[in-house]
Amino acid sequence: MAKTNLLEELKKRPLLCDGAMGTQLFIRGLAAGACGELWNVGRPEVVQEVHRAYRQAGCDLITTNTFGASSAALGKHGLSDQTATLNRTGAAAAIREATPDAWVLGDVGPFGEFIEPLGDMKAEELLEIFGEQAAALYAAGVDAIIIETMSDPTELEVAVKAAKRASAKPVIATYAFADGGGGSFRTMMGTPVKDAIARAIAAGADVVGANCGSSLSLSDYVNLAEQIVAAAGKTPVIVQPNAGSPMLLDGKLVYRAKPEDMTAAVPSLLKTGVRIIGGCCGTTPSHLRAMGEAMRRETVG
Ligand SMILES: [Zn+2]
Repeated sequence: MAKTNLLEELKKRPLLCDGAMGTQLFIRGLAAGACGELWNVGRPEVVQEVHRAYRQAGCDLITTNTFGASSAALGKHGLSDQTATLNRTGAAAAIREATPDAWVLGDVGPFGEFIEPLGDMKAEELLEIFGEQAAALYAAGVDAIIIETMSDPTELEVAVKAAKRASAKPVIATYAFADGGGGSFRTMMGTPVKDAIARAIAAGADVVGANCGSSLSLSDYVNLAEQIVAAAGKTPVIVQPNAGSPMLLDGKLVYRAKPEDMTAAVPSLLKTGVRIIGGCCGTTPSHLRAMGEAMRRETVG
């Protein structure tokens, strides 16, 4: 059975995205600071196992293990020459598990430095870099691209444009927002919600929203979702919270929200008008399964 276009499906029902990939790879032995995308070729069965767990948890959208697979981000590990391979194998692992009913989102994360004038990267050069990654993901057969954890609206705009140049398929774009004081939220670069979302939509994003966002609690996320929905107008909104705000334990960030804590936020998130809910850092297939059950209770009941 052919899948419908993701945007058409979103008009009919809210969808469940998957949860963290990095957290799952760390549990399975990935060393801190190591390149998780390298497992797409070195340990593809593990990457696939994570996708399978999210699929079995009921996730409608499966995200490829390619967050750090732009040539610029891979360059930090001396792996720029692996860009095409790591994106292609990452997409293949997700597609294998998502077929036939789930949609595969090709994941694109920040390139890791600053664009001019704060840094050395030229916007035109970055357009080529993100374009190369998007082309590799689309060539491997992903259904859409998700651009995540962005702090700089200019970088997000460049990534959206690169994805749109590579294909007419849907592009999802999300920022990591932080507490901006007085009930407001801003990106790390200081951009308020309204401006950040307007710029994402103007650049061509088909779905906009937030993910990650260190320091935000689940109730902060509900307030943030309200503000994003208001800013987004007719554009559908996605929210992928972390498993609560992290605590520092033995020098490591630990996310403590339990599946039932995440579940409790689902009705409020849906009430704001959010159309895709998923999870970011610290979330597991158990969290997503519980969230999916809460989602179905809200939409069916
Ligand atoms: Zn995260």
